[in-house]
Amino acid sequence: MFRIGLGHDSHRLGPGDGLVIGGVSIPHHRAAIGHSDADVLLHAITDALLGAAALGDIGEMFPDTDPANQGRDSADMLRRALDRVSAAGWRIVNLDCVIFAQRPKILPHRPAIRRRIAEILGIDEAAVWLKAKTGEGVGPIGEELAVGAECVVLIERQS
Ligand code: MG
Repeated sequence: MFRIGLGHDSHRLGPGDGLVIGGVSIPHHRAAIGHSDADVLLHAITDALLGAAALGDIGEMFPDTDPANQGRDSADMLRRALDRVSAAGWRIVNLDCVIFAQRPKILPHRPAIRRRIAEILGIDEAAVWLKAKTGEGVGPIGEELAVGAECVVLIERQS
């Protein structure tokens, strides 16, 4: 038995000195603004995973009204979501993701991001793919006001 899940996230860009995307620090002259470490990709993956198993969402698991979530490591959030999904008898087959960012360039970091996501989830790197799109210079992504991410994940019932 298979299930799919879809996750989406976006964060504003503001003053700062770099982004965390997929658990990897990427140098930049701006930063993503958020309650946690604002890792837009890990947040999208977390929601996709929870959605596939119909077991909640990131906002319900980690409310931004809880001080414990201030500056929280998104890898820890994703691991906790994975624990919830695994405990319900599911395992990940693969995931496919898209990052939306005018700048910085994401593709040079793709190998490191895939490696890190695979490590967090305890799956093979070959089961993790990532694409990157600019906003073609228009809209909040293109005007470098925000970054976004989407993820689709497939899970299957463990035998
Ligand atoms: Mg987020």
